[in-house]
Amino acid sequence: MKMLIGMICTLMTLNLYAHTENQEKTKLNFFPTELGFAEQVPTGFLKVVGGNLSGFPKSGVEKQKVLDSYSIIEAVINSNEFKERVINFKSSDGKRSYSSNRGMSNEQVYEYLMQGKELVGGESNQGEMNFDVRRYFRSWSKVIGYTNPGKTNTINVNGRFYSRYSISQISSNLVHEWIHLNGFLHDSANDHDSVPYAIGYIAEELAEKYLSQGHLD
Ligand SMILES: [Zn+2]
Repeated sequence: MKMLIGMICTLMTLNLYAHTENQEKTKLNFFPTELGFAEQVPTGFLKVVGGNLSGFPKSGVEKQKVLDSYSIIEAVINSNEFKERVINFKSSDGKRSYSSNRGMSNEQVYEYLMQGKELVGGESNQGEMNFDVRRYFRSWSKVIGYTNPGKTNTINVNGRFYSRYSISQISSNLVHEWIHLNGFLHDSANDHDSVPYAIGYIAEELAEKYLSQGHLD
């Protein structure tokens, strides 16, 4: 019986923190930069320190895409545009706030994330995004990736998606999952206004912009 409850909890846990594929592209909305909300907040800096990579195919193509995404993520999250968007984010009900935000304002969410304080070991390596990536393959699963926040800093990613994902999509997923490692969760995959989903979408758009124009403001 204990084992059964354990298994159900595990399934629920995986489900709760799983990032599943959304069919429709979510439209992001922001309050105007001119309102000056972001000006009150110092711009942070995070170094992306990818750890162990495991489970990737021998060809190395998919692993290389993950490695290539690190410098893209670093350029994105340290940009002023990222700060502006995170702080000026407008939810679907028109408020300047995220859902599943642990009671934090947009400014506090930005400042919290830019500390680089993962639940596991984050205290001792602040200023860094620390995570390991473990690749698995489930052809029938809609789960792109999942984590166990507070237990490990491993981001589990499904090769079904990673094998065909662009670097922007991989960057977006890694940012989403890393935000989980900082303790921000979400309800279902429809919780588009949650911190992991919304900021994951912001990261994807800015990664595409960075890759197409070579810089961000
Ligand atoms: Zn998630």
